[in-house]
Amino acid sequence: MEVLKIKSDFVSSVSHEFKTPLTSIKALMERLVDGKVRDQGKMDQYFSIIAQDTDKLTRLVNNLLDFSKIEEGKKEYVFSDTDIVRIATEQVQSFKREQLMNGPDIRLEIAGEIPTLRADADALSRALANLLSNALKFTPPGKAIRVGIGSDGGNVLLEVEDEGIGIHPDELGRVFEKFFQGRNALDQSVKGTGLGLTLVKHIVEAHGGKILVESRLGRGSKFSMVFPIKS
Ligand code: ADP
Repeated sequence: MEVLKIKSDFVSSVSHEFKTPLTSIKALMERLVDGKVRDQGKMDQYFSIIAQDTDKLTRLVNNLLDFSKIEEGKKEYVFSDTDIVRIATEQVQSFKREQLMNGPDIRLEIAGEIPTLRADADALSRALANLLSNALKFTPPGKAIRVGIGSDGGNVLLEVEDEGIGIHPDELGRVFEKFFQGRNALDQSVKGTGLGLTLVKHIVEAHGGKILVESRLGRGSKFSMVFPIKS
């Protein structure tokens, strides 16, 4: 019975995640096609929302594909020398572009020289995108999100810290479980699939690293990915 419930909840969450951006794209496209929007500024705004919705859908599909590969034990990572600063810069820029005007502020802070990592660049981008998308979901406008990169010689640290609503202390140990969605998400009707952090953990561990979380309710959360530098 429990498995059936998880399955039907999951199907309903995934459908909802698809439906919201699709509905928005459809409505905006209809207005553009009807020629009702003439003002260039308004058109640009519509195009940017459509781009943002398509990015969301792409992330969702990639997450689902990655998840099924992981479940089947078929997920493979391709390692090469990777510049983590470039990855973080690209992701931060892309999320900033996606941001509506009044969203939280996203800052990138790089502490000193960061060595290259033997890593799967695509997978690292996706892990960071999942953390950033969570931070954005749970952080109100006017607050900040910080992406920090640092190195202590033995490890490279990539962290995403937000000033959002935080996670209930009794749920902190469960956020990496597959399909898990917290009370904070359900309370605020913030939908999701409960897979984002499961994937982040898998990616980090495939690189021999670990993921840590700290959070205070009403104050914010910090997710830290620690990658060992292998020579
Ligand atoms: P989803 O893919 O649905 O976002 P995740 O696995 O990424 O699921 O996250 C699981 C749960 O962890 C979320 O439902 C939420 O309760 C909590 N969570 C994750 N990131 C944050 C954050 N930055 N702030 C507050 N809660 C978070």
